[in-house]
Amino acid sequence: MASINNRDILKSIDYANNNKLFENLNYIYNNLPKGKCTGCGNCCMESVGINLIEFLNIFNYLKDKEELRKKSLERIIDYYFMEFMEKKCCPFRDENNMCEIYEVRPLNCRLFGHWKKEDYNKNLNDVTEKNTQYKNIMKGKYGFDISDEVVNYKIKYCEDFVPDNGYLSKSERLNFADDVMVLDSKLFIDGVIDIEFRDRGIVEYFIDSLLDQNMSYNIKVRITKEKDKSRRAISRLKRILIK
Ligand code: SF4
Ligand code: SF4
Repeated sequence: MASINNRDILKSIDYANNNKLFENLNYIYNNLPKGKCTGCGNCCMESVGINLIEFLNIFNYLKDKEELRKKSLERIIDYYFMEFMEKKCCPFRDENNMCEIYEVRPLNCRLFGHWKKEDYNKNLNDVTEKNTQYKNIMKGKYGFDISDEVVNYKIKYCEDFVPDNGYLSKSERLNFADDVMVLDSKLFIDGVIDIEFRDRGIVEYFIDSLLDQNMSYNIKVRITKEKDKSRRAISRLKRILIK
């Protein structure tokens, strides 16, 4: 059984519609500071962190776009199960580096160009340090190496984006994140959905909607250990999971 089951997702989408949560989310998005972006897509190189309400918004957007939904799920499965072996771009970035869910892209994507350089680079160093620690843990526990390409991959600070009104401080960025979090808390407080409260990226949310989180993690470890058979195993998973 999936960690986030389909019935709860659909119930939460209804709740979000009836209680104007999507409307409020769009209000937050529409009131974010603006800037000039070349649209190069170079920053679309990870499973960006999102909130529950943003996952529901994207899920809802894809619901009646059968072709895009299936294509996205294929890429999500590739991303997740190959994650220790290969650095892949965000599953929603298309062949022309365009965002396929641009209308409903999450907060972190919208704020990317607004970071101050020193904050951004500090965060980047923290991420690389955590990746290295994680690599060592995995080596000790399961005996495989997460690829260096994955561990050391850096999405470079964007020098091309020009914010209309200057860069945002950390607290300004966090205020927007808090506003989105308030929408999540309505779903949790009203008991609309009961899922483990943990940080998830866009990929992890969708994987949790397909499989139990422990099961998907164990499969991922096995696939990494049996690298030679990974393509076949992932193709099989796609046939089973994508409906
Ligand atoms: S924010 Fe920067 S890296 Fe990202 S698409 Fe815009 S210009 Fe490219
Ligand atoms: S969701 Fe869209 S904007 Fe965000 S990282 Fe993915 S492709 Fe880029």
